[in-house]
This record gives sequence, structure tokens and C-alpha cells, in this order.
Amino acid sequence: MITFEKTVKQARILNPLKNFQEDTITFEYRTDPLTGRNTTVIKGMLSYISRFLTSDEETLKSLIEQTRANCPFCPENVKSKTPMFTKDFLAEGRIMVEDAVAIPNLLGHAERSILVVLSKEHHLKLNKFVPKLIFDGFKAGVAYLKRLSEVDPTIRFPAFAFNYLPPAGSSIFHPHMQVLVRDRPFYLVGLMLEKSRSYFEKNKSSYWSDLLTKERSGERYLFETNGVEWLVPFAPLRGLNEAQAIVNGKSNLLELNDKEWHGLADGISKILQFYHKEGYTSFNIILLSGPMNEHLDYFDVNLRIMSRPGIQASAFTDAWALPYLLWDGEAVEEPEQTAQKLKPFI
Ligand SMILES: [Zn+2]
Repeated sequence: MITFEKTVKQARILNPLKNFQEDTITFEYRTDPLTGRNTTVIKGMLSYISRFLTSDEETLKSLIEQTRANCPFCPENVKSKTPMFTKDFLAEGRIMVEDAVAIPNLLGHAERSILVVLSKEHHLKLNKFVPKLIFDGFKAGVAYLKRLSEVDPTIRFPAFAFNYLPPAGSSIFHPHMQVLVRDRPFYLVGLMLEKSRSYFEKNKSSYWSDLLTKERSGERYLFETNGVEWLVPFAPLRGLNEAQAIVNGKSNLLELNDKEWHGLADGISKILQFYHKEGYTSFNIILLSGPMNEHLDYFDVNLRIMSRPGIQASAFTDAWALPYLLWDGEAVEEPEQTAQKLKPFI
């Protein structure tokens, strides 16, 4: 029912790096089994761009210091410089879970989006994102979603997003997470919901369960922890060390129990250990949910995590025209290779 379709194409060139001998470049067109979107796997691209993926230590250090000076999320400022919820929404003004603080956005991305400050530290290396810190951030986000669903049940579509450091799209250095919520799904979520429903109607089974059944014995499968399963997707969205998590049988974020939130936090922390070891400093995560007011048998809560370029004078970005404007995917190495490299960290 699920097929992993790929087509291999080659280009021939006379390579100046090999004394103009004939050389072959390999492209693999892979079709995402749910959405049908193409991702091109370009063998050798990871090593070609690897010099842009690590950070210049001095530049990074100097940016950490400059941004610490007036940081609204540092502990001495968080109560005086960040917005509060209105009294009718939340009498206390802010939601605190251990070190995590959930606050409204000064300028948000959706009518009900907020953010969660994750730590008291202004900067964290990726190996310092311990499971507890991520778990507490998730719990603060969920406390907000619960309150929101009481106040306005029409705001049904949440997505959690981490943009860590400027190469990942963050304007504030201090570790934080976005809780995006609105009355309509984000485009990718809407597409996944529509395709998952057609799959269910056609096959009388869930795409997500079928995907896990098929992947569990395969080379892209990583691990299971607390009811959350991790793998490297066959056709990544962005393809820079990308992994995916699926919470099987849960269709929206309000259905997850603490064990499953721990499963997500543990897995993220493990993958960030791998990114740190590879010398990366920046990453994105999206955690996708179905509508909060109903259970869907055809959709599972799922997450994507990927590394982003380093902080350097070159200001290299992997968000170039092909993925950003042409809506195609590109992977800089074979997903099976990514899975091999990730496995020692789990
Ligand atoms: Zn700070």
C-alpha cells in the first residue's frame, strides 16, 4: 500500500578536479509516499557544503555576548520585558513550568501564537538541550493550548516550532520555542490531513501505522522510546540530517500523555547530541498536530528535526530558491546514510 518510489538519473561531465577525466554525478528522485512531493537526493553534496555547516567559534562567541546585553528572555529581564496574557485569559499573566516560561508574542505569526522561553541560560550548545528542558517547554506549551481550547474552541490547529539561532530563522538568540495556533491548518498540515484521509478511505488503514509497520525492520528506522517512534524519512522535507518522529495512535497534541512528551523530548535530545558531535550549532523542529477538538483515526502527531548551517561570515543559507520557492525537496546525502550515522547516538 505504501511504496517507496525512486528513479536514478546521471549526468556526465569532464571533471577539472580529476584532470578532465569523465565523471558521473548521480541524482535520485524520490517521491514522498504520502504527499507525492519530490525530493532529490544528491550524492556527495553533504561533503561539498560541509564547510558551511560548522560555526566560526569567535563569531559565535561575540554574537552570544552582544545579544546577552539586552536579552528580554534572560532571567533578570523576563518579567519586566516580555508581554503578559490578559487577566481574563490567565490571571497570573505567564505560564511557568520549572525553568520554562510561556508568554504571548510581541509580534506573532498567527492570531493565537505564543512562545516558550526554554532555559535560564542565554546560550546552549546542542548537547546541553537535556530532555527535561525540552519536556518542561512542551508542558508549558500544552498548558497554554488547554487554556486556549477552553476560551476559544474554534482555534483548533497548533504546531510547535523551534528555530534555534539565526541560521534557523530566529531573531532572538536565547533558547525558545514557538507555539503557533490558529483557526486553520498550516499548508503542510492541511496537505498531510487531506492525503492521510484519502489513504485511509482507499486502504481502510492508517498511513502512519502502515508506514511504521513497513519501516520498523528497515535501514531508516532509528528507535522507539515511550510510545514515540523515530526514523529518517525516505524523502526528507529539507534533507540536512533530518529525522522524523511519529506518536502512533494520537492525532492531536492534547491527546499526548507525559510518557509520550518524554518520548519526544528524549529523542530530540539524542539527535541534538549527534548534531553537536558533527559540529553543528543551529536546528529547526516542527511538531505537527491534527485539530484539537476531535480524534482522527487517519492522522498521527508527527515531528521533523533538521540541522541548519553554521554561524560564519559567509552567511551561507540552505534555504535557496529550489526548496524555498520551487517547493521541491533536496537531500544532501542518502537518508539511509543519515540513519547509519545517527544510530550510535541512540
Ligand atoms: Zn538571554
